[in-house]
Amino acid sequence: MSPGSSTESYPTFARIGLRENPGKNLNQVTCPDRDLNPGRLVSRPDALTVTPQSVRGFLKEDRRGKGVEMYSEVTAANSWIANKKGLSTSEWISSLKMTANLAAVRSVPGRSLDGTRCRHGCPEIETLAHVLGFCEQGLLLRNSRHHLVRSKIAAALRNKGWIVEEEISCLAENGSTRRVDILAYNADTKQGIIVDPTICFEVECHQSAEVHLEKKSIYEPTVNYFKLKYALIHVEVFGLLIGARGTIPAFFEEFRRQFVLPTSLRDDIVIIMLKKSCQILINHMVPHY
Ligand SMILES: [Zn+2]
Repeated sequence: MSPGSSTESYPTFARIGLRENPGKNLNQVTCPDRDLNPGRLVSRPDALTVTPQSVRGFLKEDRRGKGVEMYSEVTAANSWIANKKGLSTSEWISSLKMTANLAAVRSVPGRSLDGTRCRHGCPEIETLAHVLGFCEQGLLLRNSRHHLVRSKIAAALRNKGWIVEEEISCLAENGSTRRVDILAYNADTKQGIIVDPTICFEVECHQSAEVHLEKKSIYEPTVNYFKLKYALIHVEVFGLLIGARGTIPAFFEEFRRQFVLPTSLRDDIVIIMLKKSCQILINHMVPHY
């Protein structure tokens, strides 16, 4: 591939927001001695085998391509792949493996002699989605992951002048109790928002819309409660999906822009996701690590 070629022929790079760097493919194998070979270095042929067809096949594949499309929604959130951001080397490698669904869980062919069921006694197949999102073994770490993200979003809203309350109990119209993650309101304009960040393993692109609708159905019956309690005119509900493997859906980005929250909020959440999901994975594989 020559320098300056369109990224169209390198669709994986384009999809995850990276620019092709032909120099990355040059190494000592292709040019072991620069004194004897002063000409222009050539790229390794095996690095050039990615085609649009092969990428489409990867995305359609049941296991490794699962949820990968969500990385294409907000490509700026994928910069950790190129520069590691705040990740340690082992976290970075684990995160890359999780991205391609290659973490060594039992459902990966050839990884287990003891079957594919969860090693912690769940009746489920031990997939990465089970480990990161459902297994009892990771419950406390998942709660911690969620609380960190909730606090980050709450702090960003406070910095923009909102009055913010977290983990607040309330009543729905049918008399049942609910607990909202974040209530933010402006005492002058009397506008309020209920924000519920939800962390899910990435499966498909319309997940974020489904989460938003689900959260609306749960929390809209509490709107009148908050209107009365805080003398608000309008309260809107936002269910924010965040990918367990550090993906940021377009819906989250639109929310961030609508409320003029900084890009650092998005980038910090990505790193929190990756670090915490790595912890959950290690705690699953090697408990008490
Ligand atoms: Zn389990």
